[in-house]
Amino acid sequence: IAKNAHQPEFLQAVEEIFISLVPVFEQHPEYIQHNILSRIVEPDRIVSFRVSWQDDQNQVQVNRGYRVQFNNVVGPYKGGLRFHPSVNESIMKFLAFEQIFKNALTGLPIGGAKGGSDFNPKGKSNGEIMRFCQAYMTELYRHIGPDVDVPAGDIGVGAREIGFLFGQYKRIRNAHEAGVLTGKTPGYGGSLVRKEATGYGLVYFVEEMLRDISETFLNKTVVVSGSGNVAIYAIKKAQELGAKVVACSDSDGYIFDPDGIDLNIVKEIKEVNCERIKTYVNYRPNAIYTEDFRGIWSIPCDIALPCATQNEIDGDAARTLSANGVKVVAEGANMPSNLEAINVFLENGILFGPAKAANAGGVATSALEMAQNSGRNYWTFEEVDEKLRDIMKSIYAVSKEAAHKYGSEGNLVVGSNIAGFVKVADGMIAEGVY
Ligand code: NDP
Repeated sequence: IAKNAHQPEFLQAVEEIFISLVPVFEQHPEYIQHNILSRIVEPDRIVSFRVSWQDDQNQVQVNRGYRVQFNNVVGPYKGGLRFHPSVNESIMKFLAFEQIFKNALTGLPIGGAKGGSDFNPKGKSNGEIMRFCQAYMTELYRHIGPDVDVPAGDIGVGAREIGFLFGQYKRIRNAHEAGVLTGKTPGYGGSLVRKEATGYGLVYFVEEMLRDISETFLNKTVVVSGSGNVAIYAIKKAQELGAKVVACSDSDGYIFDPDGIDLNIVKEIKEVNCERIKTYVNYRPNAIYTEDFRGIWSIPCDIALPCATQNEIDGDAARTLSANGVKVVAEGANMPSNLEAINVFLENGILFGPAKAANAGGVATSALEMAQNSGRNYWTFEEVDEKLRDIMKSIYAVSKEAAHKYGSEGNLVVGSNIAGFVKVADGMIAEGVY
């Protein structure tokens, strides 16, 4: 703790996992003997570098780039890139640490990593985004490769950025190594369903949670925070399954639409016009916009899907959701609920799907993209979607089983942490000390 005292997000992620592992250590003294805990919290390496690029006024700008390669016991390092001004080493480490266990849970051969930059894409021209991506890859390329480390998108990094990054990697390496990045568009090696995967996967996971209480999405009221990649496709799938999604947000505020969110309008605002979510009310007079994105959790709902960013639900927001009768909370974003909020959900009998399990559909489909790239072929939308659904079912089953085995029936936080950890820890022992 002392070594990482200045990294609160990383410590929060470690604490959440370590608390879950107490019963595992009681039953498996070999993990203590091999000093797994001290080894697993130390990344294999952290690369931090200068990214210099020229803006449209020909001024030279400087940002800091990162890649945290945390653990490659199960497979090549794998994890997204985040471009956002809040990016720092603590956030990179928390995300990479979580990614180790999430990736292990998918059952696919991928290790854990994360990267990004404190670059702010907001308000930048297409040319500026391209020059930044090229400058970022000019350093990153030497640390990655289809069998080494395979980055993907995250906040601020979508298909456009992946395209610019891939183009620069290809030019430097003079090789079309499609498997070096995932989240590509299908025209040059991307997988169908990758764009939809995290949102769809989240909803498939919640379907499994609901099945256990003999419920479905039909006629449920749903609140989804965010209006980015994860949020949009979670809304789409929930609506397809008969739910009424009444709210979504961006980092400025949230919209409430009593008639149900019109997703085509949200997509036009965010994906075509690149505008703020408040403009939604210009299209739908019944909708209400409220400044302050955290207020979204005061809207009564059956199912809450936080899909924006870390720590967006604190204890108070969780108590409000609980008082308003929420039945299920499942995390599309990474660590959107703080520890106090998670405890409120668990103590009040609310079904809680933690990020590690519930949002693993994105990285799982990235691994399917890698498989297609290695085989030099493409699978149909239906094929990938079916595989995604099966993977989410399996993650749910494995997490539930681990919770049961270690005496925390129904607690998916404990279950997913343990299931992911045991796989990685066993691999670390098998591969020897390093
Ligand atoms: P996007 O950049 O597409 O969208 C992010 C959304 O969250 C936007 O609506 C954004 O609003 C909002 N947001 C971002 N930062 C903040 C903040 N500090 N406070 C409030 N709102 C904020 O990202 P994604 O949808 O890809 O990612 C969302 C979350 O899901 C992240 O936690 C990410 O790590 C996680 N995730 C994503 C995966 C993927 O496949 N994309 C896979 C697994 C997890 P604004 O436009 O105002 O910035």
